[in-house]
Amino acid sequence: MSETRLLYDISQKLNSDLDLDRILADILALTVPSVDAQDGSIMIFDDTGQVAHQITIRKGLSGQQAQEETDRVLSGGLAGWVVAQRRGTIVNDTRHDERWLPFPDDGPQVGSAIAVPLMRRDKVVGVLTLIHPQPHHFDVDQLALLSSIANQAAVAVENARLFRVVQEERAKLQAVLNEAADVIMVTDEKGGVLLMNPAARLAFRGGAPLSAGTRLEDAVDNKKLVDLFRQAMKTGIPQEKEIPLPDGRTLFATLTPVRDVGWVAVMQDITYLKTLDQMKSDFVATVSHDLRSPLQMIYTYAGLLPEMGPMNEMQLEFVEGINQSVEKMSALITDLLDLAKIEAGMEMTVKVCQVDNLIRAALTETLQKAMAKSISIHTEIEAPLPLVAGDPTRLEQVMTNLLDNAIKYTPNGGRVTVAARSGDREIIVEVRDTGIGISAEDQAHIFEKFFRVKSPQTEGIEGTGLGLAIVRSIIERHGGRVWVHSRLGVGSTFGFALPITSGL
Ligand code: ADP
Repeated sequence: MSETRLLYDISQKLNSDLDLDRILADILALTVPSVDAQDGSIMIFDDTGQVAHQITIRKGLSGQQAQEETDRVLSGGLAGWVVAQRRGTIVNDTRHDERWLPFPDDGPQVGSAIAVPLMRRDKVVGVLTLIHPQPHHFDVDQLALLSSIANQAAVAVENARLFRVVQEERAKLQAVLNEAADVIMVTDEKGGVLLMNPAARLAFRGGAPLSAGTRLEDAVDNKKLVDLFRQAMKTGIPQEKEIPLPDGRTLFATLTPVRDVGWVAVMQDITYLKTLDQMKSDFVATVSHDLRSPLQMIYTYAGLLPEMGPMNEMQLEFVEGINQSVEKMSALITDLLDLAKIEAGMEMTVKVCQVDNLIRAALTETLQKAMAKSISIHTEIEAPLPLVAGDPTRLEQVMTNLLDNAIKYTPNGGRVTVAARSGDREIIVEVRDTGIGISAEDQAHIFEKFFRVKSPQTEGIEGTGLGLAIVRSIIERHGGRVWVHSRLGVGSTFGFALPITSGL
């Protein structure tokens, strides 16, 4: 009964503490009287088998001396024997047992000793050794009792060690969060703020100091960010958004769900990117205006010339030449500016799009040109086609560019087919023609800016060489991909794939 009581008390005491050094001292303080010993030592190993913590019998040793003493008993002494045999033992008389390595003069007189391993999951995690000045002090009952206590102690030691590891990891994480230039926030699933790093406090100051369960609305003085969090919580879908700050900076926030925690927001300062973007927009706007105005003047004056009086045939031909050149240049400027805008991500309004509608709109637009060349148009459109998220104007532009090309590079009387179907998490659209085809060599360059195939068949066909570059830019901006399959003299298939969306 009293042993059970003792074991219970020891387990209660040890497990109520998580401080490893205190636990080791407690183990000694509790076990020494339990077997009426004089003193004792304890050592704990880390995962690699090195001694991580210890209390020695000889007091007042320096770290270096304690280390040497430990090495000695572990390599040829009693503790080493216990680790190797994985069981406890008694040294009845230290004078006649070579496992006992006597202390130098400064150590206590030892007549007998008892030592047990601290075992966790079949692993020796430590050794407890107790001593007495008289030989034959310890008996096998005490060995059994001490073994039981050691097992209890091992649990407490393991807990404390794990706690220390967690604490160290936490400290590391804290340091990373504190030093991070990115703004980092963590909330629980309902929007209670769990963590804001210093950068976050700086960006969204004005909020109340954090305490457990502080609501998002109280911790952050930025409605856009709060709304973004709420949207994420409502839909369960990760979110991304630009968050402007009152000091003029812009953060790009990414919100991701974390299982059993809630939501983590990481925000990067993209102010310099915004500035660059603005510069590019300003440039495109200025160039566009500065090039277009004089062109418009040329066009207007050329149109007025015939009205100034009768012109001979050659003069009329020259005016027509001017008009055609103006149109070519105007198309080139439009394409160039378009490409610049698409690459800069300007003027993109993302909506949920029904691609079949966009295809039909593009078909209506290009029908005239097809009819003029007696080209028959066919469609193979799967219904219903899944939705995609994108800019409808730009996606329609993709379709018109591909259809225009198919009609342009297909001789009279040919056939153009538009097919659309759903694939694996994407929709696939293809424009097939029975046209002149493209050689394998040229196919490799077909999506590059200003690339035009030079051949007798393409001679006389107008174009800027930017149409397919625009197609590729738009599709890639939408997270999709483009491709071409073609055979000279047989025809070409231009295709693209766009990721399917479940909503915005
Ligand atoms: P362009 O304004 O010259 O049509 P694109 O970028 O649209 O510019 O196309 C680049 C080149 O690719 C074209 O000049 C043409 O040689 C070739 N090409 C594009 N589409 C087709 C097609 N359907 N069939 C054959 N050649 C094509």
